Amino acid sequence: MAAALIDGKLIAQKVKDEIQKRVDNLKAKGITPGLGVILVGEDPASQAYVGMKEKTCKKLGIHSEVYRLDGNTSEKEVLDLLEKLNNDSNIHGILVQLPLPKHIDEWKVLDAIDPQKDVDGFHSINVGNLCIGRDAFVPCTPLGVIVMLEHCNVDLTGKHVVVVGRSNIVGKPMAQLALQRHATVTIAHSRTKDLAAITRQADVLIVAVGRPKMITKDMVKEGAVVIDVGINRVESGLVGDVDFDGVKEVASQITPVPGGVGPMTIAMLMHNTVLSAERRKNNV
Ligand code: NDP
Repeated sequence: MAAALIDGKLIAQKVKDEIQKRVDNLKAKGITPGLGVILVGEDPASQAYVGMKEKTCKKLGIHSEVYRLDGNTSEKEVLDLLEKLNNDSNIHGILVQLPLPKHIDEWKVLDAIDPQKDVDGFHSINVGNLCIGRDAFVPCTPLGVIVMLEHCNVDLTGKHVVVVGRSNIVGKPMAQLALQRHATVTIAHSRTKDLAAITRQADVLIVAVGRPKMITKDMVKEGAVVIDVGINRVESGLVGDVDFDGVKEVASQITPVPGGVGPMTIAMLMHNTVLSAERRKNNV
């Protein structure tokens, strides 16, 4: 039997409907959530992502300020702008679109964001807090995956979750979140031996690698839930890291690409921004 489709667009819309109510509530109390975005350089994919974030803010009535800086901007200029945004009471969330040009130290920049405005969850303090189970801003893509699984009534307790990919923005925080939800977690990466033997053990398989259709039907256990984070541009358009047509024959639930995890990521960025504004309101 073919797998049920996990419709990221639909789930993201439901999440955004809830966020809309929270924005309206804040506005009724005189607070407009605000997001500051810094984009350095002309990378087309980054420009497209920033454009989508800006559009979604507008739709939800979240104030957004996008700083589009040219590729030669110095590290100091970016740090100065961050300081300004850190001190701006109209801005509740700050994100620096990655990747940054090579002459800018990414960690220095990410750690210059006020952790309480770090809605991408990449500041070392938020990374550390996530690892020890304290309140933290959680990176949007893995958070989106968790919300998606919750919407599909997938309880991770006692499940074997296999995460393929160990990046700081997806794989590692994904594994932490699954661990917090009492899953038994395996992380696989480019040096993993016999990947298929590991992925076949997964009750929930989450793939974030960036290699088109690398997970094939023979690598997936019958009835597994398969979440494809990958976005790869190929001649025919966008495809994920999972060979969707083959894997859907064995999985119980599966996300498509596009229309799976992608829309959740932006929805969770909006969630984190509104959360930051709500926290500030409660602290005033
Ligand atoms: P990175 O390139 O930072 O990390 C890729 C990971 O995959 C690394 O840990 C790497 O291992 C691992 N890997 C590479 N080759 C293999 C292999 N043959 N077998 C097993 N593991 C392998 O990518 P990101 O985490 O940033 O992104 C992953 C994918 O997710 C990309 O396609 C990206 O476009 C997409 N993405 C989608 C988002 C969304 O909103 N849907 C958001 C963010 C990313 P090693 O560490 O050993 O090098």
